[in-house]
Amino acid sequence: MPSSSGLSSALALDAPETVSAPRPARLWRPRRILVTPAALEHAHGRAMVARAEAEGLPVERLAANRIPAPREPDPRRAYVAAKATLALTVAPPTKLRLQPIPPSADWRFDLAEGCPAHCQYCYLAGSLQGPPVTRAYANLDAILGNLAAYAGRGAVTSASAERAQEGTTFEASCYTDPLGIEHLTGSLSAAIRHFGAWDAPVQLRFTTKFAAIAPLLDLRHNRRTRIRFSVNARAAARYEGGTDPLDARLGALGQAARAGYPVGLTIAPILPVAGWEEAYAGLIRDAADALAGVPGLDLTAELITHRFTPGSKAVLRGWYPGSDLPLDEAERVEKRTKFGTVKHVFPKPLMQAMRAHLTACLARDLPAARVLYWT
Ligand code: SF4
Repeated sequence: MPSSSGLSSALALDAPETVSAPRPARLWRPRRILVTPAALEHAHGRAMVARAEAEGLPVERLAANRIPAPREPDPRRAYVAAKATLALTVAPPTKLRLQPIPPSADWRFDLAEGCPAHCQYCYLAGSLQGPPVTRAYANLDAILGNLAAYAGRGAVTSASAERAQEGTTFEASCYTDPLGIEHLTGSLSAAIRHFGAWDAPVQLRFTTKFAAIAPLLDLRHNRRTRIRFSVNARAAARYEGGTDPLDARLGALGQAARAGYPVGLTIAPILPVAGWEEAYAGLIRDAADALAGVPGLDLTAELITHRFTPGSKAVLRGWYPGSDLPLDEAERVEKRTKFGTVKHVFPKPLMQAMRAHLTACLARDLPAARVLYWT
């Protein structure tokens, strides 16, 4: 195997930042909250309006159900305006036809779409259409009630010998970070209670870069929700604007595990930052410290390397023109998806070196972690 430090030299980023003490979770306060007439027809829509108004946030009641695009001709300003807007709306019928979401879960469902944070490697960049307004769905009863039709029908985790014991899995963080907006929606708590009361082999899964876990700790989850925290090497913190700091996320991981939740680490996106071996070893040691002494710990790890598509690169370059995130095709290899589209991933020797190192660190410092996949 080639030297991993040699492999990383062309892609190396700056040295890790100084470790800081955990800060309390900051809660998002949108500059604009819009609500559609259709959303107000739902009790959950009205409850979200009440939450916002209780926080002292004014809510604009729209005359029609279309969410207006920010009136900013400059794309940067339009981006900033959209990221500061929460729209309370109704999920279209297409959202109720669930899709498989390999390798994470049997099915994906959406409580919301969009996220207020500013990650320069945001995985939503290639999938969301238009300005990135966060939309929270008011027809929560229909969204949760729709899930029963999919129980027992999964072909992703349910079809895997290693993961079938998780039951039918439902992933709620494909198009949003549900914890980052929970204080304004309450949708995630409702989903956790729904799965807690659902006496069947099913599992709710979500991953988050936020840490405001307190409202979830006392819910009757019945261990049917796996809370994963999306974490990265400290050197990547500068790419994660608007999220909660790593130490706050790791603190929340420990709290969730101590509240009896199955938990997980989503290590993503893995990057060959300068000194990446020690950077990721340190991350895994810190996670082990956060979980030390948790009784009955049920822990998984998902390992996701950085990749980009021509579309996501164009969107991210538009959103973050000053970013030094490495998006040079010459340093990657092309991979074709089953739909014939192209994504750019790290060369195989680097992938192998990173995979061997991270899995060895997990085996050494977090042996309780079941590695679900590497991609
Ligand atoms: S927290 Fe997740 S969804 Fe939100 S901006 Fe960052 S990567 Fe995107």
